[in-house]
Amino acid sequence: MDCIFCRIAAGDVPANLVAERDDAVAFRDAHPQAPTHVLVIPREHIASVAHTSGDRSAQVLGNLKRFAVEVAATLRLAADGYRLVVNTGRNGGQTVDHLHIHLLGGRQLHWPPG
Ligand code: AMP
Repeated sequence: MDCIFCRIAAGDVPANLVAERDDAVAFRDAHPQAPTHVLVIPREHIASVAHTSGDRSAQVLGNLKRFAVEVAATLRLAADGYRLVVNTGRNGGQTVDHLHIHLLGGRQLHWPPG
């Protein structure tokens, strides 16, 4: 399987890394939608948030969310706030089939999203 985010996690494709852990990587989005736009991904290939379930889902998503919150704090987004987004499937706007959390901040974000 040729997955661009697996290749970034493996270090085979260059990315602007923000932070790394044994099980996850955070890097800058190539097409930022806010002054700070980081993608937080598990190293393991999981196609989407809908592709885990039960205890495994809680573990993967819990760890990923904790990492995203830590990255937000490191990037000094905590005081003013930020948004975590998980696009899922076609209608959700998911374009890369490897689970990722968008971390967006650095400006006032609007609601509802487009
Ligand atoms: P989504 O549309 O939710 O699947 O988000 C995928 C995101 O990945 C988009 O915001 C893209 O800009 C971003 N993206 C795709 N390829 C790369 C890459 N090689 N490096 C960094 N960001 C990427």
